[in-house]
Amino acid sequence: MIKDNLASVQARINKVNHTQVVTLIAVSKTKSASDVQQAIDAGQRHFGENYLQEALDKIAALENAKVCWHFIGPIQSNKTKQIAQNFDWVHSVDRLKIAKRLNDQRPDNKGKLNVLLQVNIDNEPTKSGVLPEEVDEVVTQIKSLDKLSLKGFMCIPNPDHSRISFTKMAEIGKKYPCLDALSMGMSHDLELAVQNGATFVRVGSDIFGQRD
Ligand SMILES: *Cc1c(COP(=O)(O)O)cnc(C)c1O
Repeated sequence: MIKDNLASVQARINKVNHTQVVTLIAVSKTKSASDVQQAIDAGQRHFGENYLQEALDKIAALENAKVCWHFIGPIQSNKTKQIAQNFDWVHSVDRLKIAKRLNDQRPDNKGKLNVLLQVNIDNEPTKSGVLPEEVDEVVTQIKSLDKLSLKGFMCIPNPDHSRISFTKMAEIGKKYPCLDALSMGMSHDLELAVQNGATFVRVGSDIFGQRD
């Protein structure tokens, strides 16, 4: 079933995508290592996790699998060390302080940590991320951190108007031609995100089923 779900999500992406390379991230938060293993067996390589402790358990359980782990959840300062040690990508860098800590704590033997700057695209007080008008300054500062490789941007728009927000995010992204990764789109809005230039979509429930 996970295998069929992956195929149908991939087909939805392919149906609307005629331009960019889109990487599907299977968001496995709250799901078991054996669910992740089923997805791996079906050929899935990129996984997204929100909660550090359960992610570390799965990473350990699947240590021999050739997969790429993406941290996509809110980051507290006291979690940065283990994130820097165990993940390949971090999508949810939402302030300079977190970027600096990840940079300082990235192990030397691991190569640069790929990061995306999370943008609070709708200026919502309850959401994480830098405001659109702060992007320029924070990009410059993160670029100076030598253990991080800044690749682009991530956003979680207000679902009431995600089309407008995805367009806005894409417009900001275009100002930085070297930062060409855009992480946006989830189960309910992945088509809109892809049509607006997403290069990563993060899909959980449409692959693994509803979360408890
Ligand atoms: C849970 C989560 C997703 C996946 O959401 P679905 O609606 O289950 O596809 C994507 N991105 C983030 C940041 C999430 O927390």
